[in-house]
Amino acid sequence: MNELVIDLEAEKAEILKRYRALLKACKSTLQRGDKRLIRQAFDMALDSHKDMRRKSGEPYIYHPIAVAQIAAEEIGLGTTSIVCALLHDVVEDTAITLEDIEREFGKKVAKIIDGLTKISGVFDTNSSLQAENFRKMLLTLADDVRVILIKLADRLHNMRTMDFMPRDKQLKISSETIYLYAPLAHRLGLYAMKSELEDLSMKYMESETYKFIAKKLNEKKAEREQYVKAFVEPIKEILEEQDLQSEVYGRPKSIHSIWSKMRKKGVPFEEVYDLFAIRIILDSKPETEKADCWKAYSIVTDLYRPNPDRLRDWISSPRANGYESLHTTVMGPKGQWVEVQIRTLRMNEIAEKGFAAHWKYKESSSDSGLDQWIQKVRELLSNPESNALDFLDDFKMNLFSDEIFIFTPKGALKQLPTEATALDFAFEIHTDIGVKCIGAKVNHKLVPLSYNLQNGDQVEIITSSKQSPKEDWLNFVVTAKAKSKIKSSLKEEKRRIAEEGKEILERKLKSLKITYNTDNINKITYFFKYPSPLDLFYNVATGAIDLKDLKQFQSSEKVIEQRSPEKIEAHQIEGIINKVKSKDSNTLLIGEDMQKIDYKLSTCCNPIPGDDVFGFITINDGIKIHRTTCPNAAKLMSNYSYRIVKAKWTSQKELAFLTGLRITGIDDVGLINKLTTVISYDFKVNMRSITVDSNEGIFEGSIMVYVNDTQHLDNLIKKLKQVKGVTSVTRFDSEQQNIDLAS
Ligand code: MN
Repeated sequence: MNELVIDLEAEKAEILKRYRALLKACKSTLQRGDKRLIRQAFDMALDSHKDMRRKSGEPYIYHPIAVAQIAAEEIGLGTTSIVCALLHDVVEDTAITLEDIEREFGKKVAKIIDGLTKISGVFDTNSSLQAENFRKMLLTLADDVRVILIKLADRLHNMRTMDFMPRDKQLKISSETIYLYAPLAHRLGLYAMKSELEDLSMKYMESETYKFIAKKLNEKKAEREQYVKAFVEPIKEILEEQDLQSEVYGRPKSIHSIWSKMRKKGVPFEEVYDLFAIRIILDSKPETEKADCWKAYSIVTDLYRPNPDRLRDWISSPRANGYESLHTTVMGPKGQWVEVQIRTLRMNEIAEKGFAAHWKYKESSSDSGLDQWIQKVRELLSNPESNALDFLDDFKMNLFSDEIFIFTPKGALKQLPTEATALDFAFEIHTDIGVKCIGAKVNHKLVPLSYNLQNGDQVEIITSSKQSPKEDWLNFVVTAKAKSKIKSSLKEEKRRIAEEGKEILERKLKSLKITYNTDNINKITYFFKYPSPLDLFYNVATGAIDLKDLKQFQSSEKVIEQRSPEKIEAHQIEGIINKVKSKDSNTLLIGEDMQKIDYKLSTCCNPIPGDDVFGFITINDGIKIHRTTCPNAAKLMSNYSYRIVKAKWTSQKELAFLTGLRITGIDDVGLINKLTTVISYDFKVNMRSITVDSNEGIFEGSIMVYVNDTQHLDNLIKKLKQVKGVTSVTRFDSEQQNIDLAS
């Protein structure tokens, strides 16, 4: 028998070593008595976790120490937070109670620990629980933002140490991270943490691509460093001549951001030009900060020609998360565009440590975008109409988007997400203006409600007392505020109209001698296939229902089954999961289990053999197979993880799978012919559809083809790329859609 030998003495020494490193990390913020407090927390954590180990076999205490270290070093939090980070898991996992914590460390610490314990909650098979948890977590923003910052540190450390977790847990945790935590870190201004969270998620969800890009980056490292050196040398010289204390260096972009660019633009790695950015960090006095940054800008652009479209002044108007910096893109040696970021030490600290650093400098920038953002979160949360999942979607929309600045006619500045329309702006000013809005003047020109605003636009809203919100408004507004106001006013309108329909129906039923009662109304609702009586009444009022059909209902009444609309039941899901789990591997083998378990390939991402995939249990349509890179995957995994089953392909050469290719090139008469020849004759692949768009000599086509697996597809892509005139061939991901969870 193999016995695991643990050297307890060595472990004890290692624990102490890590503890001392933690103390060193918080040294700059320590005040009298703090050290004793941290020691006390450490002793309590050490003692209460003493018999616990992590999945890796390491002592559990390594985890809280590491979380505390991240909180101190990477977020810049102070003693109270360090104490809370050390104790963050004790109430949940050990015999220590909140009362114990309060007695030893006081009310404030107990409250934060309480928040942390509540957020983590117990996982349950309830669909919106994850969303609900997230909502709870954000609610604590109003209370104490440290709860969220410590939670982020906790998540970062768990992501860093996830190798020992089972694969399905890795996928679930990664998708949650990419879906919720990384955007949250971004919003709180923690750029370094956001990038690391994204990279780590990608490492587990897209491991092949991750390794591929990492390898490519490494291959060109020396060349890149040489380039950076040549680029920054003259800048440094002149900065020095002009007595500007500074640090100038090149910083590689994260793997995830390079990958996003490749996907967004549909280009291979070789065509992503900005693999790094140059940073100029100035050591300035507060009163000359802005002038110094522009001086540096002037030096850079004297040396290299700037791209006038790429100047971003986040110093005059900081981003909503507090970020301040001057960005420009210039033409470097060898005709390469290079992004240059210019900022001061203070701005850099805010850029890296986000919220906490912002706090520290609060006096100097009182009216911060971040305060406004927290105010917005509060507004959103206090809306009783929104359900947790809707809320999350709206909220995420606002998290992801960058902001633009719009002027009112009187010159006041409003911050909106990019993609915001004239109507969003109207709602931003006031709900009453939003609901009555019929159009707008942008820079004195008349535009429709759906007009996409550009940074710096001056907008005047035109209203009419006769206007009321329309259903299709929801298709183009992007701010959570406009969305929820439109939804609630539509609902109100619908209720009003439904009330009329109800009266019409009552009269009709009376004449048909059908009793008006809840039971019959439910039956009629089911007969006309509406989700609720409210919809039934509404459609009666609008005339969408022909009431003559009620006769048909009357005669069919006897045969109608007493069935409520289908709803997925926990035991049904359990049944399917158990069916899969009863197999040895716990994994759904696609191709093999076909007869026993009902599954289909999803049409949103068209998986083919060779893709990383998972199964999602639907209500009416068995198991649907999605790619782990499906635009819907993160949402499904983080909100409905109990409905996820592991899935794997078995080899099946004889089957063909549908996938889509996007091809661009220079238009030429014979191009389509050449492409279809390669596909149908050289590769003997069947095509299902082909759509082609030609615009000013640029050819853009989408082709749906049947292939056997990813290898087969890669070969086809390679061949198509060799066709003369073709500039790119990519497999396309469909857009994120509102997928129907039932089917
Ligand atoms: Mn933890």
